[in-house]
Amino acid sequence: MKLAVLEQLYKLYSEFINTLEVCCKRFCAFCCTRNVTITTLEGAYIINQMSGNEKEDFFRDLDPDQSKERFIPKMTMNQMADCCKNGGTPHEEEINPDWTPCFLLKGKECPVYLFRPFGCRCLVSTVPCGETGFAQIDSFILTVNTIFQQYIEHIDLQGVTGNIIDVLGHLKSEKFRQDYQRNEIVKGTNLISNFSLTCLMIPPEHRERVRPILRSIQCIHV
Ligand code: SF4
Ligand code: SF4
Repeated sequence: MKLAVLEQLYKLYSEFINTLEVCCKRFCAFCCTRNVTITTLEGAYIINQMSGNEKEDFFRDLDPDQSKERFIPKMTMNQMADCCKNGGTPHEEEINPDWTPCFLLKGKECPVYLFRPFGCRCLVSTVPCGETGFAQIDSFILTVNTIFQQYIEHIDLQGVTGNIIDVLGHLKSEKFRQDYQRNEIVKGTNLISNFSLTCLMIPPEHRERVRPILRSIQCIHV
């Protein structure tokens, strides 16, 4: 059920991105770093697409990266929203764009491209990063990205958020995957419990423009 909702959210997001002029395309991989953050749900979605042998290769490739430097989030998106709503200041987070590449990348190809997590889908640049050395993301796209991230976390409340390496490293265990499917609460190293959506982070200047997107999200039926 949750996986079906995630699939619908990915579909809606693609429809949104298809209305924009962006430089991102398949086999463009300059943004494939070790800094991708995902939820358990997004990790389960990737693993569910694999056969037994594919899973073995996948987890074998993941192992060496568990000791490498990477972005380790301290707060989830919904915690951050809740913190700001209550007048707090979110933690400073350490992130280095040189922490590359993503363990999944094969040459310029993402082998799970069709099932890639939202963090990879939403890094959409209006300039070609390979030439400019940096990405440029429109502020409205950032607002829409945050909304989708907040909903994805909200539908995965018994799950966790963390670096893709840590979340998939946790789901490497068949037992943990089964626990997760049984809706048991997930806990693990470098992983933060997901938090419910208490308020959406939408700047006043984007409130009108996001309305159709919000309506489409709220109308998802599976
Ligand atoms: S964010 Fe940059 S590197 Fe990544 S796909 Fe888009 S243009 Fe390519
Ligand atoms: S999961 Fe795929 S798209 Fe995302 S960073 Fe890794 S190789 Fe790139």
